[in-house]
Amino acid sequence: MDSGEIDLHAALKKYFGFSKFKGLQEDVITSIVNGKHTFVIMPTGGGKSLCYQLPALIQEGTAIVVSPLIALMKNQVDALRGISKENGIAHVLNSSLTKGETKQVKEDISNGITKLLYVAPESLTKEEHVDFLRQEKISFVAIDEAHCISEWGHDFRPEYRNLRHIIKRIGENIPIIAVTATATPKVQEDILKNLGISDANTFKASFNRPNLYYEIRPKTKNVDADIIRFVKQNQGKSGIIYCLSRKRVEELAQVLQVNGISAVPYHAGLDAKTRVKHQDMFLMEDVDVVVATIAFGMGIDKPDVRFVIHHDIPKSIESYYQETGRAGRDGGEGHCLAYYSYKDIEKLEKFMSGKPVAEQEIGHALLQEVVAYAETSMSRRKFILHYFGEEFDNETGEGGDLDDNVRNPKKKHEAQDEVVQLLKVVEQTGEIYKAKELVFTLVGKSNAIIASHKTDEEAYFGSGKEKESSYWKALIRQILVAGYLKKDIETYGVIKLTDAGRKFIKKPMSFMMTEDHSYDTDSDEAPNANLRPGSGTDDKLVAMLKDLRKKVGKRKGVPPYVVFQD
Ligand code: ADP
Ligand code: MG
Repeated sequence: MDSGEIDLHAALKKYFGFSKFKGLQEDVITSIVNGKHTFVIMPTGGGKSLCYQLPALIQEGTAIVVSPLIALMKNQVDALRGISKENGIAHVLNSSLTKGETKQVKEDISNGITKLLYVAPESLTKEEHVDFLRQEKISFVAIDEAHCISEWGHDFRPEYRNLRHIIKRIGENIPIIAVTATATPKVQEDILKNLGISDANTFKASFNRPNLYYEIRPKTKNVDADIIRFVKQNQGKSGIIYCLSRKRVEELAQVLQVNGISAVPYHAGLDAKTRVKHQDMFLMEDVDVVVATIAFGMGIDKPDVRFVIHHDIPKSIESYYQETGRAGRDGGEGHCLAYYSYKDIEKLEKFMSGKPVAEQEIGHALLQEVVAYAETSMSRRKFILHYFGEEFDNETGEGGDLDDNVRNPKKKHEAQDEVVQLLKVVEQTGEIYKAKELVFTLVGKSNAIIASHKTDEEAYFGSGKEKESSYWKALIRQILVAGYLKKDIETYGVIKLTDAGRKFIKKPMSFMMTEDHSYDTDSDEAPNANLRPGSGTDDKLVAMLKDLRKKVGKRKGVPPYVVFQD
């Protein structure tokens, strides 16, 4: 079919009520309608669903849409049924359907009623479904959240790996549309290779989110109080707070509640009913804040989320970008605040330690980028966009002044001599120490490990004692990021010289160290340690809490109430 024959604008108006295409939508749709493999990379909120929905609606046959989450599929199917009187226009095929329902779905497909069939990759592997689908007219297969194919993505799903094979069995020449908001070149490569569509027409939109403000704060024991202060300064605005663990989610939600903030928890440990309830409360603005694990957010389309706080730093820049991307989708203000402590990085490293080495290597590489981002002195927007392979100029680019590093530049100083000093100590001690022992050695402190290796009064021992431990810790982190040192994974974090590091010792270069040593704070979760018990006699607060309690219901295992007072 030639796209010239169809009026895409008329179809856009007719089915979706929009009068203009967003960004690259029209080009993408033209490519699909022309039967080409098509690869779409657009940030969250860019309007990717419409890219495959519209061509599915105007083409003959049924489009298969592979999506990782039932909730995502249901939302889209409901919306599509809303635009058509025909209920069968869109269906979900999954294992929860009864025999009768499955039969109806298949009938609708055979009768040409169904334009979009949503499936989870697991359902698509079912022999009976494949056998059925290969008899039918399939317009194309769209793979939403295609980054799930890649181990370098933030949401790897092994089932996605088989898709190419299955699609081949459904039909030899079916066009494939891969759609993702993941912009890293590695993931993109993986997607094209895995689906066997290296000849795909590729459409990549800019990932700049000019209305978002990026900020990192050192994470200290006062993090809860700091968050409460922030949320209170933004009273009445919607926000998401991400935590790593379910336990922390529960605790923080409670701490916020007793401090007069309407907040609900959300994590995969809650039963489905509660999750839906809390999500709806947030969407309907019955509560301002949802405290959540990363289980919350994929496919959530609340346009006016005004802040996204990361209580714990995520495991990759990618995840960070996705999660912060839920702020300001309407183009209005969106404050992205993350709390960072290097201790949290070490915690994440520990989680990985049981995994296969190859997987750990990926994990460490991704974490190293997170450290670099958190501790950088350059524009955060520039950093993120560079990570996604995009050049950005702060002087001329949109949103160029919207981050803490641009607003309050960090100081830097020449640290060439100190870098040499540090690298030499790594060399002289035989590349057997982890960061802690290196710092100890530099400042002239001993411990059992050092004592067992140190023969006598080596000159390097204590050679850096005119500086604080925190200085050396920060320098080690910055040098790891710069690539002169690396952490060895097989020996659990022993620090080794890289080739670049050996070269640096022989031929030192300029090294501008960022003066910010405050990221080594102890973030160990001692919830509420900073919060003084309050009287709780504020009538309004008590009434609000009661009301909230009623809506949310009681849950077990939450800490005693503590009210924060400034
Ligand atoms: P993505 O999957 O890229 O995150 P969605 O497909 O969920 O984005 O779309 C985000 C929002 O943009 C939706 O509310 C959608 O209705 C809206 N949208 C999509 N295309 C257009 C358009 N051409 N004009 C106006 N709004 C659009
Ligand atoms: Mg989407």
